[in-house]
Amino acid sequence: MKSLSTKIFLSFFLVIIIFTSLILLFTFKTTREHYIETFAKDLRNLNLTIIKPVKQYLISSDYDSLREYINEHGKNINIRLTVVDSTGFVLADSKSDPMLMENHMSRPEFQKALKGSNDATLRYSTTVHDEMLYVAIPIYVSGDLLGIARVSMFLSDIDALTTRLASDIMNIAAVILVLILIGILFFSRKLSKPLTQLSQASRKVALGDFDIKVFIKGRDEINELAVNFNHMTERLKALFDLVTSQKEEYQTVISSIQEGLIVTDTSGKILLSNTGFHNIVKTNNVLNKTIENIFQDEQVLELFRSVLKKKKPQTNEIRIYESYYICSANYIALKNEIVLLFHDITSIKRLETMKKDLVVNVSHELRTPLTAIKGFVETLEDEANERDKHYIEIIKRHTDRLINIVQDLLNLSELEERQSQVMLSKVDLRVLLENLTKIFEYKLSEKNLKLIIHVDEAFPKIKIDPFKMEQVFVNLIDNAIKYTDAGFVKIKIFQKRDRAIIEISDSGVGIPQEHHPRIFERFYTVDKSRSKKYGGTGLGLSIVKHIVLLHHGEINVENNPDGGTRFVISIPIKLKIKPISS
Ligand code: ADP
Repeated sequence: MKSLSTKIFLSFFLVIIIFTSLILLFTFKTTREHYIETFAKDLRNLNLTIIKPVKQYLISSDYDSLREYINEHGKNINIRLTVVDSTGFVLADSKSDPMLMENHMSRPEFQKALKGSNDATLRYSTTVHDEMLYVAIPIYVSGDLLGIARVSMFLSDIDALTTRLASDIMNIAAVILVLILIGILFFSRKLSKPLTQLSQASRKVALGDFDIKVFIKGRDEINELAVNFNHMTERLKALFDLVTSQKEEYQTVISSIQEGLIVTDTSGKILLSNTGFHNIVKTNNVLNKTIENIFQDEQVLELFRSVLKKKKPQTNEIRIYESYYICSANYIALKNEIVLLFHDITSIKRLETMKKDLVVNVSHELRTPLTAIKGFVETLEDEANERDKHYIEIIKRHTDRLINIVQDLLNLSELEERQSQVMLSKVDLRVLLENLTKIFEYKLSEKNLKLIIHVDEAFPKIKIDPFKMEQVFVNLIDNAIKYTDAGFVKIKIFQKRDRAIIEISDSGVGIPQEHHPRIFERFYTVDKSRSKKYGGTGLGLSIVKHIVLLHHGEINVENNPDGGTRFVISIPIKLKIKPISS
């Protein structure tokens, strides 16, 4: 690569050489022409000077004297003199023997002279074998042509002069040229030096050295460029410092987070991780590994794939080694990356298990004494008088409620068991409902309620756990009767795409909208006194929800347009159950 100064120097050098050559050429040409013109004028004057004596010799036909005169004068002034007669016959010539010379009438200078022009002629002389400058003037006597006098000189004499002049000019030009070239060399160095400085500085900036500064003297554009360059590096340095400090800050924040955090690309390769995560997976060596390498369990991978597919945040409870975590995964559209955050819930989980165990244990412990109380109360009832019977009735009702609660709690605990299994078999819901409704006949007729059952004709047998599903129907129908004073209880079953839809609605008191989100929580009741009146425990809907979830289904509550409540259950028709957490 040629340097800038070399390029500038060579360009100027070329231009100057071309221009100098052209100027010299033009100067030589004009100088030579000027010389020729000046000599032509001198020749003309000389011719006019010699013409007078020549004319006398011609008139007197004294050719010998003429020749003598011509030879002598020609020798003295180193000029060739020639005289021809009116026919072109050479009478005298100072450089050659006229006897040996051919007729000269056809020579251009003589032709020109005869036509009245005394312009000079430049041509090659065959007589003396050299280029010569001629001026010929005719000699007339009383209108008759007597002869023609010609004066001529060698062009080499003129060229010798011009060559001397040219060599002088060339010498001066060469000196000037050298001086100019030295100037250009200096100028090109001066021009390229700051640019080289800037180029070297920018290379250092590219390598990350933002402290570099360029100082260039002067007040021209290059100096302005250097000032701007310095500003630019200062700004870059400030930005870089900002980015670095932000990065450090963000790394400190990330590493100080107790929760495990990783960022992966869409292939699952880990791009960023914090200490929390290293502690969870018990290794620091996670960067650039895929999550498949890190997690043997499918749970995290499933969550990852699901978030990648749906591009929406999702949360799952997962187990890593002996600990439990809430894993939140989110897709960052801007970077096409996925963030996974692991929050340790092992202690909460342990507490939950302890609470569950306590409930189960207490329920178990309470069952026997409660059954005994119930038995003794019934024995007492037979022997009691009217006043005591009233109190025994109250004790019996409360004992029944307690037994119900204990039973429901045990049911719920069993359903919440992680390993809780569903025993699937193909069931015709029509038959199941037919058997069930018998239980409610008394309660229905007591309140004068109508039970409407509608199962779609095409509705197939479906795979469910019949005992658990029976519990769902019992709880929902029982509630519907409990909270309806007049009207109907309706069960509608049909298929919608690949799901079975079960609707249980009533024309009862309904559930105000604000209670809908919490209605499936344990012990949640809308109207406590009414629930108590019917021996409600507040656990029925929790049990229903758990069973539906075990069937991979969903349950929602709605308000009937004409009043009353509607529970809508949707479960997959082709159910393939594997143990799931409830
Ligand atoms: P409970 O044993 O109190 O009935 P549930 O869990 O079965 O407990 O129901 C929770 C609460 O939901 C009930 O206390 C009641 O207020 C309300 N509820 C349930 N089903 C109905 C219904 N069909 N109509 C009106 N309210 C209902």
